[in-house]
Amino acid sequence: MIKVNDNFLKIQNNYLFSDIAKRVKAFTEANPDKKLIRLGIGDVTKPLAPTVIKALHASVEEMAAGETFKGYGPELGYEFLISKIIENEFNPRGIELSVDEIFVSDGSKSDTGNIGDILGVDNVVAITDPVYPVYLDTNIMAGREDIIYLPCNKENNFVPDLPEKKADMIYLCLPNNPTGTVLTKEQLKVWVDYARENKSLILFDAAYEAFIREEGIPHSIYEIEGAKEVAIEFRSFSKKAGFTGTRCAYTVIPKELMGYTKSGEEVSINKLWNRRHSTKFNGVPYIVQKAAESIYTEAGKKEVQETIDYYMENARIIKEGLSEIGLETFGGINAPYIWLKTPNNMKSWDFFDLVLNQLNIVGTPGVGFGANGEGYFRLTAFGSRENTIEAMERFINLKL
Ligand code: PLP
Repeated sequence: MIKVNDNFLKIQNNYLFSDIAKRVKAFTEANPDKKLIRLGIGDVTKPLAPTVIKALHASVEEMAAGETFKGYGPELGYEFLISKIIENEFNPRGIELSVDEIFVSDGSKSDTGNIGDILGVDNVVAITDPVYPVYLDTNIMAGREDIIYLPCNKENNFVPDLPEKKADMIYLCLPNNPTGTVLTKEQLKVWVDYARENKSLILFDAAYEAFIREEGIPHSIYEIEGAKEVAIEFRSFSKKAGFTGTRCAYTVIPKELMGYTKSGEEVSINKLWNRRHSTKFNGVPYIVQKAAESIYTEAGKKEVQETIDYYMENARIIKEGLSEIGLETFGGINAPYIWLKTPNNMKSWDFFDLVLNQLNIVGTPGVGFGANGEGYFRLTAFGSRENTIEAMERFINLKL
């Protein structure tokens, strides 16, 4: 008899986006003439930068000629891309890394989801709440049951408190999805110090790093002293360069980072992930890695930055628009997400329905990201300028 992995039966079905889709479908069927503005899903809308398209075309041509054709590449990523990542993302912030400390992959979803393969099942896991649902679900799938939720809400200014019980694995997503909030260097240092004291591992998801605008906000956890001993960092080209459909990301695992066997012996996490990644993954396509590399050319950098600026101007418009009508907002300064407190403590889904029916705008109910998201609502800055402005004009007419 074939047995299934029972852990999969313990995952709560995440109906968030399908529930949204159902309600939106019902609304559009009942109101076919109404123009909906979608500021719900966290996907980009702007096309790839012209430099990226050029790099894609050029590498496709390479694949067409016998002398330049590429078959399997190095499973861990081409050195041409990894060295550009180190030079452009880390060295300017005073962080030195070697090529074998970066692992190129097809996405941070896979990496944040798969990293648990090399970690013990009996680790105590701390996860901020609300947060990107992949961390929780993949830990449940792996059979980890001891999970600590770290509330992040306006009462604690979205700064999680250290857990009372010792945590072995700690997920930090900064800038945060969904709240759009960040931690300062001092606030992040508290976590690095905690991890060093307790021999814990920080899983630092920096998928939205490129949207940070304020000084003093760490772009990489390795800006904090000692972080290389305790942290893995996940980065992605998805939001930074519009690669959500093209797929390229990378994970940084410094060689200083150690895990421990049951008997307390040190084991290199870098070596374990190297083994895991090269065993279960056969590399990101050459043409995609060439496309990713191209964002580090002068033209590529400029174009990618223009698109980020475009989204962040949308974020400003949303944040200001909502504040002007008296709504309390968070995030939106160093992240493309605006997290708003629902008025009169309205439940997230009630506010969703109100905004959909009255203003014909789609957002995301905060409770879908965790219990502490109840009473909040997420809008994204990834829409068009025109729709963003129109959405804010509609909000002026919101009747509670
Ligand atoms: N991490 C966070 C916090 C995200 O919000 C997302 C995507 O929405 C991802 C990771 C996934 O990124 P990728 O497209 O690289 O898989």
